[in-house]
Amino acid sequence: MMLTITYTGQKTTDLGYLLYKNPYRPQLFELSYGKAYVFYPEVSSACTTAALLLDIDPIDLARGKVGGTGGGLFDYVNDRPYVSSSFLSTAISKVFGTAMTGRADAHQALSDSPLDLSAAVTMLPCRGEQEKLNSVFEPLGYKVSYETFMSDENFPDWGESKYVNLTIRGRVRLRDLLKHLYVLIPVFDRQKHYWVGADEVEKLLRIGEDWLPNHPEKAYITGRYLNRRRSLVNMAFERLAAANAVDGEVLPTEPEEAEEKPDKTLNLNTQRLGSVIAALKNCRAKRVIDIGCGEGHLLNLLVKERQFTQITGVDVSHVALERASAKLNLEYIGDSMRERIQLFHGSLTYKDARFSGYDAACVVEVIEHLDIPRLAAFERVLFEFAKPPVVVLTTPNKEYNANYGFLYEDDLRHCDHRFEWTRAEFRAWANKIAERFGYTVQFSEIGEVDEKHGAPTQMGVFVTCE
Ligand code: SAH
Repeated sequence: MMLTITYTGQKTTDLGYLLYKNPYRPQLFELSYGKAYVFYPEVSSACTTAALLLDIDPIDLARGKVGGTGGGLFDYVNDRPYVSSSFLSTAISKVFGTAMTGRADAHQALSDSPLDLSAAVTMLPCRGEQEKLNSVFEPLGYKVSYETFMSDENFPDWGESKYVNLTIRGRVRLRDLLKHLYVLIPVFDRQKHYWVGADEVEKLLRIGEDWLPNHPEKAYITGRYLNRRRSLVNMAFERLAAANAVDGEVLPTEPEEAEEKPDKTLNLNTQRLGSVIAALKNCRAKRVIDIGCGEGHLLNLLVKERQFTQITGVDVSHVALERASAKLNLEYIGDSMRERIQLFHGSLTYKDARFSGYDAACVVEVIEHLDIPRLAAFERVLFEFAKPPVVVLTTPNKEYNANYGFLYEDDLRHCDHRFEWTRAEFRAWANKIAERFGYTVQFSEIGEVDEKHGAPTQMGVFVTCE
């Protein structure tokens, strides 16, 4: 992915001095996660553009060679090399570190002056949050424009891509522009490649010192930059509030956090899988396929139950399948067990003969990971082509999110969820599917039931009409 910084005015080739990069000499920087190139696509007295191009190897990411969280965060097919992410942010600080401090020796006066600058950030992930581009960058003095795209022009149903090409323009000091980009790119791209710990609070407050305490979106920026880790966000808020004490503003004390609380998650997972198994037993299924099996939690429980004679797990993620395989000890099991349990790589949005021939299919906490326009493909793949006699499907109940104090209204429970449905929405969808493909469907709630908002998980059991 590429970032360009353009300086317009007079004697703009001086941008080279401020960035400490000679406009006439392209440079290569070896970083731990790839290569960064700096070159100038345009050099003239009236307009000079510097480009930072980042070249990341997706295979290295998938194998866990780079990125603090090790293998597993990134699948072999991942968007990281092609999008502006925390990797770009880190590259900015490595390659333009001196410019970020504002030190410019003989050109100090220029460095201290606001200049007519613009920055173009290619492929910034920004799902459904385009208005935030305005509310985040405009208070910093920028005019904001962005270009959006179709996910695939050949498939208009897939809708708009989550990526935008962003351009910001303003009269600002170069160091401020770099600091804004450094902090704000990972605010929009939620998938940080490093562990967000207390040192990130220090970094945020240091780099945001001049502009964050009074920013109207400081809560959003801080929450996102710190990956919604509540303890860190609270720590940052306390310090920001101290910096802000003059205007006496009160900062929110219950910031967002992405996932369900660990103790609840554990409980809920166990309850959810228990309910799925009960539904499978209830319909006397013997041959079961778990589509979107993830790391194999359900499979691991199914193998312990003798009544399940054929158990298959499918996932689109190789990393998940590797973990499932390890969990099930597939490398070491004997031949009879090997016949009983198998894993394969596949996607529930592509028609696949291997999905057929089972008594029941489970789709547990998977559909909310599909882009809405891909749901139609999933519906046909499972209910029309594979057509198992029973489908056990679970998905979060969005209404229950009101019980997670750390989620803001309309926030989803997990950053990879593309949607979450209320009980009425899920029922409407499930009833429509049942009618269209010749099934009946029964609903149940899983987890602690809140009187007003229902339970955290909702389940539909579809059975083919006789
Ligand atoms: N069913 C598991 C995992 C849920 S997480 C459990 O309850 O623990 C969602 C899983 O769906 C992930 O492992 C993800 O890789 C998988 N997934 C997402 N899109 C998919 C698709 N199109 N086809 C198959 N699996 C998919």
